[in-house]
Amino acid sequence: MKNRERPRVVIAGLGDTGVLIAGRLARSCDVVGISTRPALVSGQELGSRLTNFEQWRQSYFLPFGQFKKLDRVTMIHGRVGEANLEKQTVLIELADGSRTTEHYDIFIIATGSTNGFWRHDRLEQLNEVEAELDAIAKQIKGAKRFAIIGGGPTGVSVADNVARSGTTDVHLFYSGDLLLPGYHPKASRWISHVLTNDGVTLHPHHRAVVPEHFNGEKLTTDPVEWSTEQPPFHADLTMWAVGKIKPHSDFLPANVLDEDGFVRVDPTLRVDGYQNVFAIGDVAASDPNHSSARNWGWRVVVANVRSQLSGNGRRPKRFTAPRNRWGSIVGLQRDGLVVVQPNGKRFRVPHFVAATLLVRLFIHRYLYGGLRKK
Ligand SMILES: Cc1cc2nc3c(=O)[nH]c(=O)nc-3n(C[C@H](O)[C@H](O)[C@H](O)COP(=O)(O)OP(=O)(O)OC[C@H]3O[C@@H](n4cnc5c(N)ncnc54)[C@H](O)[C@@H]3O)c2cc1C
Repeated sequence: MKNRERPRVVIAGLGDTGVLIAGRLARSCDVVGISTRPALVSGQELGSRLTNFEQWRQSYFLPFGQFKKLDRVTMIHGRVGEANLEKQTVLIELADGSRTTEHYDIFIIATGSTNGFWRHDRLEQLNEVEAELDAIAKQIKGAKRFAIIGGGPTGVSVADNVARSGTTDVHLFYSGDLLLPGYHPKASRWISHVLTNDGVTLHPHHRAVVPEHFNGEKLTTDPVEWSTEQPPFHADLTMWAVGKIKPHSDFLPANVLDEDGFVRVDPTLRVDGYQNVFAIGDVAASDPNHSSARNWGWRVVVANVRSQLSGNGRRPKRFTAPRNRWGSIVGLQRDGLVVVQPNGKRFRVPHFVAATLLVRLFIHRYLYGGLRKK
């Protein structure tokens, strides 16, 4: 550690996990947060983001100035271009086109992954984020027939939310028998009923021909062709949610990445071979589902950074993930919020309780540490 009063923690990426960690470490460390946008633009709940933007933005699109806990964090609007893990420096490409270098004592990698058009690593201003979100929502609203390719949580969530909004004929295509791979089979069966009841037409056993060099980064209008030999499908608009996930890790040396580009970590979420570097969230190879974001990995990182810096000799906290994925799939609806558990069971939180206890108390107050009005 350099001879400074407070240790310097640099966090690459202030998305869902980076924000939670930055605020908590800022009490005892000099925290520098590097963010591609001047706001939290969460990757969660794409379905409600596209159909009920005003509700979604109250928890998931928040300028950093609203977070009380981030007051003590030095915010840098930029993108990490290169990290030198031996010299403990990161080179940052700033939003104004210039470059700067930061030294760290602890480095936390929370840069997420690209997953279609909604989670990317481009530098953006607030008005650009707003314009982009608005344009996509309008495109979907204007489509009479909407096709979604992919039966994972994203495809399912968008299909259900668009169908519930009642103006669009929604078709969901997936290559296997069951929706929601990675979830408990009970969850897959349940969601098929929900979607059918809400008016989504399900098309199992359809494997789409994905255009070359295309990762679902935009909505398309061409007919969709199938390698499973069904006739092409014509929709006004098609969304691709085919799981072509690409971790944002180009700025790291190859020796810390697995064959798919995810950051190799041990159970304490430390990057293999580097005691003072941690990785968390969608970029981290913490478990087969890369699920440390929703499974409280941020608590593991906060505890382990604190104990490393204080030298209290406590045994490091370890991250464990349930075998099956879990969570809210279609988001908060008029009839409440259904949460699917790892064992496939589910519970429903009534709308009023979810909106007050979960959103205001749990997310805004506990997770974010209090939000200012805009
Ligand atoms: C409390 C909590 C609850 C959750 N609940 C659910 C749930 O119920 N259902 C569900 O499906 N999922 C849930 N999730 C998980 C969620 O879907 C994703 O896993 C989560 O959005 C990933 O967070 P992240 O921080 O890894 O990435 P992101 O939120 O995508 O943030 C990464 C950020 O880093 C930026 N970045 C990329 N490259 C660079 C670079 N080179 N330099 C600087 N910045 C960069 C990106 O632009 C982005 O802003 C939950 C997550 C949390 C934290």
